Formats: sequence, structure tokens, C-alpha cells
Amino acid sequence: MAFVEAGDPAELADAVRTAFAEAYGGAPTAVGRAPGRVNLIGEHTDYNRGLVLPVSLPHATYAAAAPRVDGRIRIGSLEQADPWTGSVDDLAPGTVDGWAAYAAGVLWAMREDGYDVPGVDLLVHGTVPLGAGLSSSAALECSVALAACGVLGVDPDAAVRRRLAAACIRAETEMAGAPTGGMDQTVSLLASAGSALLIDFDVAAGRDGAARDVALGLDPAGLALLVTDTRVSHALVDGRYAARRADCEAAAAALGVPSLRQASLAAVEGLENDRVRRRARHIVTEIDRVRDTVAALDEGDWQAIGSAFRDSHVSMRDDFEISCPELDVAVTTAVEAGAVGARMTGGGFGGSSIALVPVERLEAVARAIDAAFVAAGFGAPQHLRAVPSAAADLVDAAEV
Ligand code: ADP
Ligand code: MG
Repeated sequence: MAFVEAGDPAELADAVRTAFAEAYGGAPTAVGRAPGRVNLIGEHTDYNRGLVLPVSLPHATYAAAAPRVDGRIRIGSLEQADPWTGSVDDLAPGTVDGWAAYAAGVLWAMREDGYDVPGVDLLVHGTVPLGAGLSSSAALECSVALAACGVLGVDPDAAVRRRLAAACIRAETEMAGAPTGGMDQTVSLLASAGSALLIDFDVAAGRDGAARDVALGLDPAGLALLVTDTRVSHALVDGRYAARRADCEAAAAALGVPSLRQASLAAVEGLENDRVRRRARHIVTEIDRVRDTVAALDEGDWQAIGSAFRDSHVSMRDDFEISCPELDVAVTTAVEAGAVGARMTGGGFGGSSIALVPVERLEAVARAIDAAFVAAGFGAPQHLRAVPSAAADLVDAAEV
């Protein structure tokens, strides 16, 4: 049974500093740290102006940076070959390919927002699994944004975090070309330890990105969050995510509303196109399930949360069609092995499932999923425990 450990923050910050010195021959002047996330419920609702309820992981990405006087940019990662080099004047959508677009995109978007980002050397390293639906992309972006703050001497207060979230979203959508919503960057920059973050993307109501903590109380309830990475790699840039988004936009247009946030279930049921109707039904019912989950958390009604998880998974499997056999097996097996509820999480087409499990059953549930994967002839999954953790921050030099 493979569990991915979050790692010790001080050791990871130290490792990225050492790697920076080896790569560039000097010490970094700032280290930013930003967590990955797992979404409790509310899938594909962000770009439909709905609600999401993610938690930050203890697993995070660390970005070490130092300014340069010549305007050059060098970006490397311990997780990827192919470092990128360029200059601040080159930064624009379409000029950076591959993984470095996420990091370079942040520097570009912060410059667009008026920050005087200089040339920099950047090195990143972290423990968020890549492409597992746990938002290594936002962890990368937000760690670079924090490191840039450190280089600029900008205090990442609440107002700055809002600007950074917007810049990181632009980096992902405009530079990396992944048409995702704003959930990942918002939770990475605004989460609080021990809580989920309820984020509302209702632009029409003036609430775009409005967020509040929702206390989880997992420990007193004797529960834990088990995340299973199926190792089926999803690629948000491969077109299926964009196709879902286009169907949602088509549904809103057919209903004459600015977004599916304004659509009622009754209206959605009247849509003529079967596929578009099912896509829209997932969004409208999923937004309700986020509300139900928040209400159930307030009351400590874990059974109600379990049934919201189950309904959410069925909706994603049958209506939104973003699950896959590995996710279905992980979810079914988790519940059979004692989970209170389980569902696929993240953008879909692979990636991870999340299960709410009695803490003493954590390893038994993980083992049962491993056995079910062997029986089904799937490759081995990996697991991690999602302990709701704090938001991105600068790593204090005194800590490393
Ligand atoms: P997820 O965000 O669910 O992990 P994405 O497809 O959105 O999946 O983002 C994964 C991509 O982000 C990787 O393929 C890589 O390009 C980039 N990435 C994330 N973390 C790192 C890292 N530590 N080093 C280099 N690239 C990274
Ligand atoms: Mg991502």
C-alpha cells in the first residue's frame, strides 16, 4: 500500500534552497510555499458561477527565487526535465511551452497587474502528485506568486492574495491554456487549517471568488479524508474539459441565463438536447449538493454528507460523464470497505477519489482499494491522507 507523504515543511524548503544553489550557484532570496487541494464537493461548478468546497492539502510546492538585474528568467523543477529560459520582455501567451508556462505565466500575469517583477531565477520542488486532480498546477502557480512577492518585498496580505489568485488563474487559463475555473488558486491562497473553504463564483451577485471557512471537525468525529490517486492521468488541455464547459455554456444560452447558476432544475429538465440537458443537470444539482453539505457540516450530520458524496459521484458518472472505471472501482470499494461516503474529485477523466472514512479504517479502506485494483487488472493506485491545511505563504528564512 503506497501512501504519499506530505513531507516536513522545513526539510522541503531546505531541499529547494539546496537545489537552487546547485542549479544557479547562489542562494535564493525568497521561498514560497503553496498547497495542493482536494475538493470535498462541487465539481465543474466554478466556471458555472456556482459553489465549491475544497480543502488545502498538507502536500505543497516550494518555489525558491532570486532576482536578476539583466531581465533574464530561468525556471527549473526537480519534478520535470527541460528548464526554461527567456526574458521578462518575452513573457506573453503562446511564448512558453510545457510545464514552465504555469510558472512563467504567473510572472507575466503579475506584470500585467502592475507588479514590477524583475528577471528571476526560480526553482520548484514539491510533494503534490502531478496530474492527479489534486491541483499541482495551482500549487506551482501560487508558490511562484508567493516567491515573487518575497523578491518584490510585497507583504502577501488579504488584498494581495486576491490579486495573486487572479494572476494565477490568468497564468493557467491564458498561458498554460487550461480552461479551468478559479477554485484551485483561490483555495491554495486563502484556505485555513482545519477548515474547508466555501467559494462562491456568482459574478452576477457580485460575489465572484467570495470565500468563507467552513469548520470540518473531522478529528472529534473520528473521521479522516482518504484520497486515492488512480494514476490514470488526466490532461485538462486535451479537449474534454473544454467540451464540458462548452456544453454548459450552450445550456445557459438555450435557457437565456448568463450562467447555470441562474438556472432552475425544472428549466434544465426542459432542454431538448439530451447531452446538454444531462450536463446542465449535473451542474444545477451539484450546486445544491454543496449547499446541503455545508448545512450538514454545520449540524455534524456525516450520513447526509455521505449521501451527498454518493449522489455527486453518480451525477458525474452518468450525467456529466467525467468518471472512468478506475474511479468507479475506487469509490464503490471505499464504501463497501466502510467509508461514510466517497466520490471522484477534481476535473475527472482520471485523477483521484475522496472518501470520508472512520480514522481507524483508513488503512483498511486503502488496502481494499488496492486489492480491487489488482482484481480488475488496473495499475496500482497511491493514497494520501488529506489533513485540511493552511494557505500558501512565504517560508520564513528562520524556519529553514
Ligand atoms: P493537477 O493540477 O491536477 O495536478 P494539471 O494537469 O492541472 O493537474 O497540472 C499538472 C501539470 O502542472 C504538470 O503536468 C506540470 O506541467 C505542471 N506542474 C505541476 N507541479 C509541477 C512541479 N512541481 N514541477 C513542474 N511542473 C509542475
Ligand atoms: Mg490543475
